[in-house]
Order: sequence, then C-alpha cells, then structure tokens
Amino acid sequence: MDELILEQARELLLERVHRVEEKEEILLYDAVGRVLAEDVVAEHDQPPFPRSPLDGYAVRSEDIRGASRGCPAKLTVIDEVDAGYVSGKCVEKGNAVRIMTGAPIPEGADCIVGQEDSDYGEDTVEIYEEVRAYENYCFAGEDYKTGARLLEKETLLGAVEVGVLASLGRETVTVYRRVKAAVLTTGDETVLPGERLSGGKIYDSNLYMAAARLSMWGVQITSRGHERDDAGAIAERIKAIAKEADIVITTGGVSVGKKDEMHEVLMLLGCKRIFWKIAVKPGMPILCAEYQGKLLICLSGNPYGAAVNLELLVRPVVAKLSGREDLKLQRIQAVSESIFSRKSMVTRYVRAHYRSGKVQIPEGSNASGILGSMCGCNCLIEIPAGMPELLKGDAVWVVLL
Ligand code: AMP
Ligand code: MG
Repeated sequence: MDELILEQARELLLERVHRVEEKEEILLYDAVGRVLAEDVVAEHDQPPFPRSPLDGYAVRSEDIRGASRGCPAKLTVIDEVDAGYVSGKCVEKGNAVRIMTGAPIPEGADCIVGQEDSDYGEDTVEIYEEVRAYENYCFAGEDYKTGARLLEKETLLGAVEVGVLASLGRETVTVYRRVKAAVLTTGDETVLPGERLSGGKIYDSNLYMAAARLSMWGVQITSRGHERDDAGAIAERIKAIAKEADIVITTGGVSVGKKDEMHEVLMLLGCKRIFWKIAVKPGMPILCAEYQGKLLICLSGNPYGAAVNLELLVRPVVAKLSGREDLKLQRIQAVSESIFSRKSMVTRYVRAHYRSGKVQIPEGSNASGILGSMCGCNCLIEIPAGMPELLKGDAVWVVLL
C-alpha cells in the first residue's frame, strides 16, 4: 500500500512547522482566545485598600465586646461611606461609620457589623452582636498582592484571565499573533452561496466549513476563494495567497480523475510533495506539499472527507503553529450505543455524538460526500482497519472535535 498511516502523515506535517513567535499588542477587548506572550505581574494590591464585605457599620471590635440584643452596644455614627468614596474620619472609641459593601474601611475600625445586627441607626446605632477584630474585614491584597505572578506567558486567555488583566487596569495585552491561513476551494461544479444554481452545479460548502473551523481554532483567514478546475489558474492563485499566510488549505482535485489537477498544480508551483494519500476513510486522497517554506494542504473535495482531514491533520498543525495545547487532539475511550457494520481495510472515522462515556452514531449515511448528518456531532469514532462490525456495548476510541 502506498498510503501513509495517519500518525506518519501527521508527523511529516508537524516536523515542518514551528510555532509563530511574532507578538503584537492588542486591546484587552479583543484578547479572549488569544495566547499571552508576556508574564503578567501585579503592579498593585487587589483590592488596593481594606474594604467592607457587607452593608453595615465599621467599628472597633473592643467597643462592641459582649454586645447582644438584650445588652446592645451604643455607638455614635460619625460618617457614612459608599463604595467608591473614602471617609476622611477616624473611628475613635465609641464611634461607628455607616459603610456599604466595597467601601474602604475607615481608619481606626477593625471589623464590620452587618446592618441586620443593628437598629439601622443614623446618628447613633445599637449593635446587637459581638464581632471579633478583622471579622467581616477584607484585607488589601486579598485577591492578589503587588508582585504576584498572575498569568504566565503561553496562557490561553479566557474570560477570567481577561477579567484579571482588567482588574490590573490593563487596557492592552501582548499576545502572539494569530496563525494565518488561506483557504481555496477548487472545482468546476461548485458555485458560491448567493449565486444561482444551474445544471450540474452544487454550492460550495467546503469554503465556508473550512474557514469556519479554522476560525474556531483562532486562525485568521487571510484569504478565501474559489477557483475552477484549471491548474494554471489555481497555481497562480496559490502563489498570491501564500504570501501572507502561514498555511494554505485547498479542497478538491486530489484524487485520480481527469480533473484532479492538484498534482499538476504542485508541478507548476515547483513544490515538493510531502505525501499523497493516507490510510484513512474518509479523506484518503489528501495531498500535502511544501511551498515557499509553508505547508500546502490539499484536502479531498468530499465535504466529510475534508472535515475529517481538517480535524486529524490540520488541527494538530494549527495547535503547533499557535502553541495552543488545548487544540491538540484528544482521544478518549467510550462505549458504543450504536451498530456500525461496514468494514474497512483502513482506519475509518465515523461521525458521532459523545456524552458521559457513551457514543452514538447519528441516523443517515457516513459517506464521505455527506455533511448533513454530521450536524451536532462532537466526535469521530475510530474504527481500526479490518475490525469486524461495531456492536452496541463495544469499547471504542473517539477523537473529540
Ligand atoms: P474532488 O475531490 O474534487 O474529486 O471532489 C469530490 C466530491 O466532492 C465531488 O462530488 C465534488 O462535487 C465534491 N466537492 C468538491 N468540492 C466541493 C466543495 N467546495 N463543496 C462541496 N462539495 C465539493
Ligand atoms: Mg474536483
């Protein structure tokens, strides 16, 4: 057999790419999903001042020792402070400051009495509960202290990390630039959505699907387009779009038909083939090459084949280029709740739904030209070469999407 096994094919691609090192400073608003390119150290305490966790009264604990409903402590309310303001007053013996959640605890006070343990007094207040020193008291730096290493370089920024950066007062952040991909579909038979279908034509789903999937991995699509089955035109297009991309992804024209022009395209581009065909169904006729130091990955035109190739081969490449560990393929074991009786001489990937250790194959065909039944699927069941039919209750490996 001249097909490579999947792992070999993946290795051949991965050994040719290196992670993108260029950095850029971007607005924090745009930072979610990006990879941090700096270590982030706290430049101030958070919170910057001791603050009240309650609506109540800032007092001196010794002034309310032994206080109860039967024997309240009576204090003079000398000020009121809301969140966002500072009381200039000092809480001396016998004093209280009315205080709201988030407001700085005034000097002299060492605890907060919740208002429900008082008579809600305005000029004087009766306190019904004893509170110990530094009870109900949020210290400055309770979240993090000046100098704390909050986020390490290489961290994938999620909503919480963005929130932490905002809490530091950061408006911008330094991240690695996004991986750039150009997507080109080929085929005389496809027309773009928005155009009219005529005899023999179908809509181009690969262009949208591939660009959408790459975007989900944080990739910037630098170009998207379609070209007819014309090797010369395709080669010219690739020359142009490869300039600003890290990888070029095409679909169609990689099989052995008369119109499978991608082989000729490689010749016209003068580029070296890395491999053609993998021992995987669907997506067997994938063709990969290196053009001007960049990967040119030519996927099968069959939409399901293209989708599977994207997951099994392109995704690991994007993971390496972007340094995103979370994009590495995750393979887990599950128990099949479905039957799949078609055998295969090569490893087959079957679209499926995974949930709580169980995996279910949707109704409809798993054929390589069929995309519709993949809607909502979140994994691929891996059926090893030569395995007899898959039965309910069988343990299987699944690749999570
Ligand atoms: P090919 O790989 O060019 O031989 O195409 C294989 C099958 O996929 C054919 O049935 C094509 O019509 C179909 N196909 C090719 N390109 C696309 C595309 N961009 N969108 C949807 N189907 C496609
Ligand atoms: Mg074709």
